[in-house]
Amino acid sequence: MVSRPADYCPRCGTSLESTTVDGRERERCPACENVIWHNPVPCASVAVVDRSRPEPAVLCIERAVPPGVGEWTLPGGHMEVGEEPAVAAARELEEETGVSIAADALEILDATAMPPRNGKHVTTIHYVADWTDASGEPLAGSDANTARFWSPAAFDASGETFRPIHEQWFRAAVTYFG
Ligand SMILES: [Zn+2]
Repeated sequence: MVSRPADYCPRCGTSLESTTVDGRERERCPACENVIWHNPVPCASVAVVDRSRPEPAVLCIERAVPPGVGEWTLPGGHMEVGEEPAVAAARELEEETGVSIAADALEILDATAMPPRNGKHVTTIHYVADWTDASGEPLAGSDANTARFWSPAAFDASGETFRPIHEQWFRAAVTYFG
């Protein structure tokens, strides 16, 4: 299994050829007949919502690494092998913002296949959590320039850019708890 389309067989190094397997175009090794399954990579993100403010706000990070440097997004990233999705979301939250939360305080907001980038497809589980269940103060960590709460209205007035593929979950999270 690969996360980006492969040119060579990872088993024997032979150039791959395209063939149809199970109704889809796939790469296969003509030497060892290995089919190279191209599968999406699982990711998890979490929108922590502070409802104590006049306008509910979501904990966001400004990205420090590509893709989308300088754009705002929700804390999140790749799941590790053997890691529960909610544990991955909580781990990424803590790495990127310094805020910690128990994985069992996370609720699923949505689960979607994201638009591919350079042939890499990501499937993301989008979690939502209540700020009252979290501990620590937002402080930018790995992959982040800044970590702070934004309400959608304040964000819209700021002239900042939200990473387009994640923006709808930022906006959906503020109304999740009613
Ligand atoms: Zn091969």
